[in-house]
Amino acid sequence: MTVQDLAANYLSTGRIDGLPDGHFIGGRFTSASDRKMESFDPARAEAFAEFSLGTEADMDTAIEAAEKAAKDWARALPSERCRILNNVARVFHENADRLAVLEVLDSGKTLAEAQGDVQSSARLFEYYAGAADKLDGRSVNLGPDLTAFTVREPVGVTGHIIPWNYPTSTFARGVAPALAAGCSVVAKPAETTPFTALVMAELLSEAGVPDGLVNVVTGLGSDVGAKLARDPRIKQLTFTGSVTTGVNVAQTAAPNVTRLTLELGGKSPLVAFEDADPEKVADGAYWAIFSNSGQICSAGSRLILHKSLRDEVLAILTERASNLKVGHGLKNPDMGAINSDLHLGRIKAHVDAAKARGANILTGGDVTTDPDTGKGWFFQPTIIADLRANDPAVQDEIFGPVLSVQNFETEDEAVELANGTEFGLMASVYTRDTGRAMRVAHALDSGQVSVNDYWAGGLELPFGGNKKSGYGREKGWEGLDAYTKVKAITISNAS
Ligand code: NAD
Repeated sequence: MTVQDLAANYLSTGRIDGLPDGHFIGGRFTSASDRKMESFDPARAEAFAEFSLGTEADMDTAIEAAEKAAKDWARALPSERCRILNNVARVFHENADRLAVLEVLDSGKTLAEAQGDVQSSARLFEYYAGAADKLDGRSVNLGPDLTAFTVREPVGVTGHIIPWNYPTSTFARGVAPALAAGCSVVAKPAETTPFTALVMAELLSEAGVPDGLVNVVTGLGSDVGAKLARDPRIKQLTFTGSVTTGVNVAQTAAPNVTRLTLELGGKSPLVAFEDADPEKVADGAYWAIFSNSGQICSAGSRLILHKSLRDEVLAILTERASNLKVGHGLKNPDMGAINSDLHLGRIKAHVDAAKARGANILTGGDVTTDPDTGKGWFFQPTIIADLRANDPAVQDEIFGPVLSVQNFETEDEAVELANGTEFGLMASVYTRDTGRAMRVAHALDSGQVSVNDYWAGGLELPFGGNKKSGYGREKGWEGLDAYTKVKAITISNAS
């Protein structure tokens, strides 16, 4: 079936066949548990399937399987890991349509966005397949009496706690480098997006990944997620989600001194100077905040505009935002749904509070539905202008299609505003002055900075945060560091 057939079939029946209802442990699906949870299609606010609520015993079995499989995989020839990971990329491409449709139903995003996520997931496996046989150490010169060198060894069993905004690609960006480095995996997808991780684990197996090397247990974060964070057999934990849960996970893992990568969201600024092209700034800001309905840790949720650009940029942006079409992701509208009723309520509460403070809302500001069906969890694209630095709409991560706008006059003021939150994930600078672009890029306290194109970048670059956006890096060559231990070996040359 083509992707259009799959989409049409679901839209007419509200059903999708062949979904797993057990966990994926030891290379196969377990039988479904008695304890189940419904999975909702956010664009219809209706359940479309059920999945198993895992127990601590399920998680225990998965970690045991991963521990057993890790030994052989750590000893496998790097060229063999490379071959299998390349196979994974091929199998993902072959199953891209099914994965993309599932991603839409789980997350609420548009089909085009989901297709992009599946392509980048396949590409992550290609990229790290290329790394598997290049994880070399270095030789160190300690003089003629010693021979010294380093080796990179796999850390062992790794745990991955996955968020609901990018379920497919977050799974891939942790699992691919872990496997390339010779580690095994236990993953726990978010409660609202359980299916793509299960299907991807099955596809990994089909591509030749040995049984037990990648395991997926579905269920509650406070339950199976906490067990994963607490288990001493887990040697590296990769967590993506909220600051509150990230801190909780770090505290849970601390007694075992488990290695951690925390990717915790942001409030990322797009700073536009007076010499920037207003059309380009408006276009950059539009995609920065309305992609994936703003549910992106690195979304450009703050627009920091030079006063001379304010009226022109906001006029263009407001016009585009107010004409933006929301709808069911499978119909490929401009913007998809909000992932859950719970999260829609959080966004609404932020915006209602801004209204109560007398905020200048240029467009949007309320919940809405799919205009074709009157159903679903949607939020209008919203722009709030002229905000002060300490306004909660500037400081708090809203994680929805809500753009907070601030104005400035001098370069120092722009940098101060841009750095003026507790987050430090992403930042972007728009200017024609290369010297200024570089000065500001260096002054910004964030894991990544783009110039004149908000989303400029690629999975070949490291990605991660400063301050409360977290620590550790995923993607790029640096993404392998979490999954390897460096050992220094020194030999005396004395006879
Ligand atoms: P969350 O942090 O609660 O959930 C993220 C993951 O952690 C899920 O898989 C969840 O099951 C798991 N989890 C929850 N409690 C756990 C625990 N005690 N131990 C181990 N794992 C646990 O996120 P949420 O409630 O879905 O969303 C809340 C906020 O998180 C959003 O408003 C947004 O700001 C932020 N968020 C950020 C990202 C990101 O990409 N950085 C992604 C999703 C959500």
